[in-house]
Amino acid sequence: MGLIANNINDIKQQLSDKVKLVAVSKTHPVEYIVEAYNAGQRIFGENKVQEMTAKYEMLKDYDIKWHLIGHLQTNKVKYIAEFVDLIHSVDSLKLLKEINKQAKKHNRVINCLIQFHIASEETKFGLDYAEASQILDSEDFKQFENVHIVGVMGMASFTDDKQLIKKEFSLLRNTYNKLKNDYFSSDKAFCELSMGMSSDWKIAIEEGSTIIRVGSIIFGNRNYNL
Ligand SMILES: *Cc1c(COP(=O)(O)O)cnc(C)c1O
Repeated sequence: MGLIANNINDIKQQLSDKVKLVAVSKTHPVEYIVEAYNAGQRIFGENKVQEMTAKYEMLKDYDIKWHLIGHLQTNKVKYIAEFVDLIHSVDSLKLLKEINKQAKKHNRVINCLIQFHIASEETKFGLDYAEASQILDSEDFKQFENVHIVGVMGMASFTDDKQLIKKEFSLLRNTYNKLKNDYFSSDKAFCELSMGMSSDWKIAIEEGSTIIRVGSIIFGNRNYNL
């Protein structure tokens, strides 16, 4: 068995059926994706539209679910609307409006997560509760028929402080619970809590994650200079 297949099996053995693994393949070649696919992996995550679209084109014969996990610019939604399975990074009404519009063109309903800002670093993307409420309370949102909000996503601080990471994931879980209670109590599809990466996925699981997004410990280190 190859190294990538080994890494995937290793992680999957530690996951319950309730937790989905997104294999984050950004910067890595399609050969790596195929190796993961042959090991049974079906969900792949990319953070750049251009890269995801290119890989989608090359791997059209594979029944892969493509997840967009990085910041998404409104003017790029049109390139992924036809095939994206889940967008993890919705952080504005304007973006959601565009996703709805492009999804409609393809006769699809696109599943989305609202990204929350839980880290102490200012640089990370994401909303707070008031901002998310503003979107969900808007008249625009109530008209959208081609987007479905199915949960939330967040990234913890880049730190070795496990207690801090745990606190941030716990904050995201509380945010998820509050949203569920305030807006989605009758919507069974609202059930996803996307949190946890290579360095902190075990903490994320302890805090109730249903989707982990894992790259480096499956595919190795990324080289951004290629
Ligand atoms: C790159 C990336 C990941 C995966 O990071 P690793 O540390 O390699 O597991 C997860 N989530 C997002 C949003 C990312 O951009």
